[in-house]
Parts: sequence; structure tokens; C-alpha cells
Amino acid sequence: MFDPYQNIQKVQLENGIDLYICYWPVNFTRILAQIHCGHVHNPENLEGLAHLAEHVAANSSYLKKVEEKMRLLGICYSTGSTDLLHTWITASIPNGSLKSSHTNHYLRKALNVIDDYFFNIPNFLIEKCFFAEKIAIINECFDRDGSPELLKKTRAISNLPWGELSHLRREYPSTIENISSLDVETFIKNQYTTNNMSIFIVGGLKLDSIMKSINCSKLTRRLSTGERRTPSPTSPLTKPKINHYEFYPEDFGLPSRGQGCVEFILLTTEFSFEVLCLAKLILDRSLTSELRKKRNLSYSANLNTKWRPGNIHEFELQSRIPKDSLNVCEKIIEDTILKSAKDYDMMLKAKKTILSSWRVSSPEIFDTTMGFACDVSKFGKIISEQETKNKYKDTPLEEVANFLKYLAQKENRFTIISYP
Ligand SMILES: [Zn+2]
Repeated sequence: MFDPYQNIQKVQLENGIDLYICYWPVNFTRILAQIHCGHVHNPENLEGLAHLAEHVAANSSYLKKVEEKMRLLGICYSTGSTDLLHTWITASIPNGSLKSSHTNHYLRKALNVIDDYFFNIPNFLIEKCFFAEKIAIINECFDRDGSPELLKKTRAISNLPWGELSHLRREYPSTIENISSLDVETFIKNQYTTNNMSIFIVGGLKLDSIMKSINCSKLTRRLSTGERRTPSPTSPLTKPKINHYEFYPEDFGLPSRGQGCVEFILLTTEFSFEVLCLAKLILDRSLTSELRKKRNLSYSANLNTKWRPGNIHEFELQSRIPKDSLNVCEKIIEDTILKSAKDYDMMLKAKKTILSSWRVSSPEIFDTTMGFACDVSKFGKIISEQETKNKYKDTPLEEVANFLKYLAQKENRFTIISYP
């Protein structure tokens, strides 16, 4: 099987830009350029600044002017995205049926657009599109989080258990309002720098050919600026300050939903991400069996695992429950978790299931390129699938059992009981 990790080559340009080049036998080339700054780098009370900077860059840059023309050539761009740790744009260029001189010409054009996007944003254009983009991202908040009332609820609750850590510089309409166009100019100047950039080029072009285009592009001629934002090491984490919260929709002007909800949220640095993913699979089975098949209380539990900056791992369990069973449900879920902690047979099956899932997976260029970029932002290096597989193989079942016992203890997690 084709291994997307075996051919990755890393080259650093003199100005500090890191290039990760990976050959795939396909008829196009995928480029992802990222700046290592995102929501976690938002200053306090200016949450939304990284996102607004990305919007302003997209609208102030040369990309807008050339987009149409590029599409006619088969070069596709994304207009930009911001995540917790990074801001990126992507481009795809055809190379299958073209002469190599054409392909290099296209690649050079694509790289020049990337250069303009991040490094050539005139201040007068920032001012010109600033207000329209501010409104655009405020509207995105409502699209993402629902009504202003629901937003108020999210904000009230997300600050409670782990304080600043669970908040993660989340943007809200009120914090976006605080941002000035000068804040955006300063942010772009300090963060959009060559030393803070990585570019991933994955697809049908080989290193020599890519380097020829790179060396003729504007990116190589840029002087070294700024500093690299390195991934933050493991953050210290204490138990939640508050571990129980009762939510009544009417307190926030929200309509009743007909059903209640029990939610457990846990943040940890002690247990590995693999342990949490194994626990997720185990509880998916045991809770479905207990809540649906045995008791007919809920269809199933929604389980989620998330990686957060500072190598904090988040585990979330959510189950919709009829109103008259809400008072007993927390205990039923806790007991099911404790029962699962003794079921080593089920744990072994979960491990085998995860390891076997690789046997039917096929690497896909868009997702893999994004995966490379996320790894570099999170860990400072690309983690191969083999390394991830080995981590699962080496995870002792005892660790999974310990995590489940830990989750079952009220004081270690944050529990939200939502009344209809
Ligand atoms: Zn946006």
C-alpha cells in the first residue's frame, strides 16, 4: 500500500520558511501554506483578532483579483481558515497532462499568490475592508453558536470549570467589537512573518522541480522576519473549580427542548489521547447497551475526544434523557462506566478494532496534507500513521481502566444537567 509518510522531505529556506515536500503519484499538486498563529494567540478582550486578520488578508490581497483567472487555468484556491493554532490557505494546481515548464509556471504563480496573501497587505486596504469583515465574523459567531441567547449560555458555562483554560480565547460578538483596524495591522505585522510560516507541497511534483519554482518565486526573495511560534509544552492542569452545573433554558431566554441532557466534560494531561479514544469506543458500546437496549432511556450517548493546545486532552459525554429520569441518570452512567472499567475483554476488542481500522483506510491527499499541517502546528513535527498505530499497540489496558475509574469520580469532571 502507498505510504504517504515515507517520502516527506523538509527544506528550510534562508528566511525561515519551512517547506515539507511529499511526492504522491497523482496528476495534481496540493499546496497548503500556514502561519503558526490562531485563536490561542488572540490577546485578552480581543478574541476574534486572528480570525479577523485572516478575513482582512483574504480581501486585501492580490488573490481576489487573480482568483477568477486562476480558476480558468485549473488552479483552485481556498480563501483562508483560522483554527486554534494556525491560519492557512490552500491551492491545487494541475500537473498531469501539462509540460513541466507549464507546471512550474503554475506553481510559481500559486506561490506568488501565497506571498501576497500573507506578506503584502497594504494598510489602506485593511482599513477599506475592515468593517465589512468585522460584521462577517460576528455573523459567523451566530451561525456557529446559534442565537445570542445560546451564545450567552455557552459563554457562561465554558468559563466555569477550568477557567481560562476551557475558554481558549474564544471569540464572541462583544470581543470582536473591541478590535480596531490598527489591532489588525499590528497583528498581521507581528504574526504573518517568514519565520512563522510552513508550506506543505504534496502531489505529483518531485523535489527538484518544486525547488526550481520556489527559487523563482517571490517567497524566496522575502527577507527573514519575525519569530516561530513553537507549540506550547504540556500545560499544568488542576481539577475543575466547579464540578456541577444545572442549566435551565429559561434563565437564558431559551425555549424548552422537551428532553433533558446529562453531560460530562473532562480535561486531562495525565491520560494520553489514545487512552481517551479507546475509552470512547468502549463507552459507546456499553452506554448504548445500558441506556437504549436495557432501559430504553436514550438512543445512545454522544462521545467526543479533542486535543487542545498545551497537550490537554478533552473527553465529552452527552446523553439526552427524558425529564422524569434525569435524577437517576447520572448515577446510571457512572455505574456503567465503572462496570466497563472491569471489562478487559471489551477493552481488548476496542484496541483490536482501532488497529484493524487502518486495514481498510486509504490515504487521501487533501486530508493528509491538512493532517501534516495540524501535526506541525500541534507537535512541531509530522507524526506518521505507524507512530500512532504503535501508540495504540503500546497502551496498557490498565491505563484505560484507570481513566474510566477517574471519569466516574464526580470531582474529576464537570457535569452539566440540563432541564427541559
Ligand atoms: Zn471566517
